[in-house]
Amino acid sequence: MQAGARRKPDAPSAKTSTAMAKVKRSFNNRTCEAPYLIFLGPPGSGKGTQAEKLHQSFRLVQLSTGNLFREHIKNETPLGLKVKSILAKGELVPDDLTVQMVVDRLDKPDTIMGVVFDGFPRTRDQALALHQRLDEKAKCITAAVSFRITDDEIVERLSARRTCPKDNSVFNLKSNPPRENDKCDLCGTTLLRRDDDMPEVIRHRLQVYRQQTEPLIEFYREQDMLIDIDATRSIQEIEAQLDEWMPMFIYNANS
Ligand SMILES: [Zn+2]
Repeated sequence: MQAGARRKPDAPSAKTSTAMAKVKRSFNNRTCEAPYLIFLGPPGSGKGTQAEKLHQSFRLVQLSTGNLFREHIKNETPLGLKVKSILAKGELVPDDLTVQMVVDRLDKPDTIMGVVFDGFPRTRDQALALHQRLDEKAKCITAAVSFRITDDEIVERLSARRTCPKDNSVFNLKSNPPRENDKCDLCGTTLLRRDDDMPEVIRHRLQVYRQQTEPLIEFYREQDMLIDIDATRSIQEIEAQLDEWMPMFIYNANS
């Protein structure tokens, strides 16, 4: 199927179509078993929300290393016990252990429809290690999707977030306001702004992201694997755009 054939209201511009045609050609040279997509984007760019949507719509597994760590620790696997002791010392989990956990997860049968890597790899070293391990298993990354949004827009978005301290419901004063000012819709408790959502904390996290992870965008661009998406658009618009791109990834996977 031609990715640009269906003209939806938000069909890609001529410029995007050219970029997509180029990306598609390079995808076609790969022999990926199923779509393996890397979502790159700063915290608050909405990539987790979209990964969840691809899971619901296309049964892609949403693979986040945070969840993997928690799962292994809960199940007390050998890897989990190692990670637990490392985290207890306040140290960072080494890349080889993280990559091992990710690659092991890909052996589970539910990944047959594809995977969205959400927040991993974070560094160029992790990316290189991941690609090497995938090579050994004759698997590969289909594409990297870069969620583009400025720091100011993220700060504005996240600092409008309010959380219910009682049931953890999340609201956003701009995009998803509670019915009554500053009160939880479910239980009426006064909503709070979490420490994580304070502007100075967000700025620090963004700084770490720009330093560590942004070089990955160039890394994937150089390999002709990068697709940009405008992450300032609404959740529905971004979802529609990804839905439109999916045949391109799946076509390749089955060819
Ligand atoms: Zn509540």
